[in-house]
Amino acid sequence: MRVGTVREIKDHEYRVGLTPESVRELTGHGHEVWVESGAGLGIGASDRDYEAAGATISPDAKAIFAQCELVVKVKEPQPGERAQLREGQVLFTYLHLAPDPEQTADLVRSGVTAIAYETVTGPGNALPLLKPMSQVAGRMSVQAGATALQKEHGGRGVLLGGVPGVMPGKVAVIGGGVVGFNAAQVAVGMGADVTILDRDPAALERLGTHFESRAKTRFSNRANLAASVAEADLVIGAVLVPGAAAPQLVTRDMLATMKPGAVLVDVAIDQGGCFETSHPTTHSNPTFIVEGIVHYCVANMPGAVARTSTYALNNVTLPHVLQIAERGWKGALQADPHLAAGLNVHAGHVTYEAVARELGYEF
Ligand code: NAD
Repeated sequence: MRVGTVREIKDHEYRVGLTPESVRELTGHGHEVWVESGAGLGIGASDRDYEAAGATISPDAKAIFAQCELVVKVKEPQPGERAQLREGQVLFTYLHLAPDPEQTADLVRSGVTAIAYETVTGPGNALPLLKPMSQVAGRMSVQAGATALQKEHGGRGVLLGGVPGVMPGKVAVIGGGVVGFNAAQVAVGMGADVTILDRDPAALERLGTHFESRAKTRFSNRANLAASVAEADLVIGAVLVPGAAAPQLVTRDMLATMKPGAVLVDVAIDQGGCFETSHPTTHSNPTFIVEGIVHYCVANMPGAVARTSTYALNNVTLPHVLQIAERGWKGALQADPHLAAGLNVHAGHVTYEAVARELGYEF
């Protein structure tokens, strides 16, 4: 099959659909791969790296959209890209169609077969193509919080790990799923005093078994949340209620109970945020201060570590890319119901029930 990847054109997107290593796997299996010139620059991969992996470099995206049977991307296609998609072509990327009627209409009109990373499933209702970005954001959240705790950023001047003879900083992680687990791992690794709050007993048990005495677990109710937030130097918001906006667990009133210069990192900001005083920020201006408390609320945290994020993403997408290239999209979807769950649009129809229902398409 002829597979292509283009340079991402969404603002501040530095990731790329295929790494040179992924290209090498595809060409090693006898597939042809076309890569737009400069597509890998954001992750430090040159055209020469792609050529060495067996890719053909295309000067622009046009030829790739016109000639490739499978296009692998990272972000949803932008309007100019959507205009080039066509029937008989497969698009494999993050789409997030439910809140995006314009994109959905364009994909339906194009006739393309669009498989969305975010709805591909795994065993036990997992979403394995979303997981690596949560892992990245979770690990980054402690890094971001530690920086924000420095005086020059408005923080209270606490080093999370402390030093011999000085107590470590206190970290409260609210939500012990993928983000929370990864945040706790990094915070524990730094030597911080870590408490993870969740309301799911199974999650608490898993966390307790994993961290043993290296982190505390606490049931998430109003009283426990208030107590943990009041004593924390760094609070990380990592809750998710599937299909719903994030619950606002830390209210404006609670800020007054916190230590001046303490830091809130709201990873759940992409679902509206779990602190009442949060609003989305960007990497170029990531923090703001409310009532003396530093807030970090970047909605696309993994974008700042494009190289790690791209490799993490390719680790989970490449097996599917190979299957689609080997068997064709129909064969690949028939062989793997988890990949089939990713089909969102095909031949002019919305094929994913939740998107169809949300946007009023027949299903
Ligand atoms: P997850 O489903 O793995 O974990 C969420 C956890 O929150 C679950 O364990 C759940 O029991 C817990 N929870 C729900 N309500 C709670 C409450 N009231 N108190 C305490 N815990 C509660 O989800 P995840 O993959 O860890 O993602 C967490 C959030 O991070 C999501 O909103 C996700 O979209 C977001 N995220 C943001 C970025 C970013 O760049 N900002 C990147 C990746 C993920």
